[in-house]
Amino acid sequence: MAFQVLMPRKTLIGKDALKLAGKDIKELGSKALIVSGRIVERNGIVDWLKQVLETEKIDYTVFTDIVGEPDDIMVGNAKEVYDSENCDMVIGIGGGSPQDSAKAVSALSGYVPIVLIPTTAGSGSEATKFYCVTETSTNTKKLITDERIIPSLAIIDPSLSVTAPKSVTAATGMDALTHAVEAYTSRKATPYTDSHALSAIKKIFEYLPRAYESGDDIEARTQMAYAAYEAGVCINNASVTLVHGMSRPIGALFHVPHGISNAMLIDKCLSFAKEGCMERFADIGRILGAQGNDKECTDSFFIYLKDLIKTIEIPTLSEYGLDRECYFNNIGKMTEDALASGSPANTIREITGKDIENLYRQLWEIS
Ligand SMILES: [Zn+2]
Repeated sequence: MAFQVLMPRKTLIGKDALKLAGKDIKELGSKALIVSGRIVERNGIVDWLKQVLETEKIDYTVFTDIVGEPDDIMVGNAKEVYDSENCDMVIGIGGGSPQDSAKAVSALSGYVPIVLIPTTAGSGSEATKFYCVTETSTNTKKLITDERIIPSLAIIDPSLSVTAPKSVTAATGMDALTHAVEAYTSRKATPYTDSHALSAIKKIFEYLPRAYESGDDIEARTQMAYAAYEAGVCINNASVTLVHGMSRPIGALFHVPHGISNAMLIDKCLSFAKEGCMERFADIGRILGAQGNDKECTDSFFIYLKDLIKTIEIPTLSEYGLDRECYFNNIGKMTEDALASGSPANTIREITGKDIENLYRQLWEIS
């Protein structure tokens, strides 16, 4: 079997990666649009980047109006600043949202060089050809796949994630776990993604509870940063499946953060998906320490998964504050949007619209 491996052109990983990245950034352009969010700016992280650029005499302008997950209006505003300031590269620094926005600005500007610097261990956006932008006119979160927006440079510095609050650590860590498990149980899985997926899953089960418990545990933050990157490389080459397909519509309609909606769905969706590939779920159970036949190891995986969700206090739909009636009224639209994204079709078990509709209904019942 032949398969492809797509990754950023260069990745700098580890302590002080940002401090050491100046020369590599300078090779990519002379004036950067920094795309970020207000919290990252307030935490002083944008200032660290500015210092690196100033040391190398790289000109820049800052856009920090990415509030929540990107929509076409925010991206349009960032693109206007890019044009009016005559930039020639774009740097996304923050969680998945500023990074996805940077990708969108690059695409709108004829694919200028992109530098991505994650400050959370989760989205894996720094490693992928994907970005999501919500279309405000239809309230639909669009997944765009475009190999031309894989970054020229990814900078993964675990010290940037130390200030992430507990809820963000939980949500983004579960996003990374969802990427790794979905890639391992995807129709598009390859031997390359398999080894990275298992490695990421093992790290996340071990270190996410630690990073959640004490945010300044730098060893846990470092392992989570590696895991999120590995999981990003996995989905870049093996895609996501049912969980992400069903998660995006919940995010678009009810503004539930991406990692939280994945975490709400993961147990239900994977319990459905496992019938198609029990041996794959058993592999995951085994690397987490389970023993026995495929069924026993799969069952153990789901027990470990439920424990993790409980430990890091993932809310249910109703705990998060969704309105039951509004949720049920939108199940038709969510099902259509989930199917249209193409992600559910990557699941090894065959899935129909009716199955997705039922899963959305059952998801409320457990909540
Ligand atoms: Zn995701």
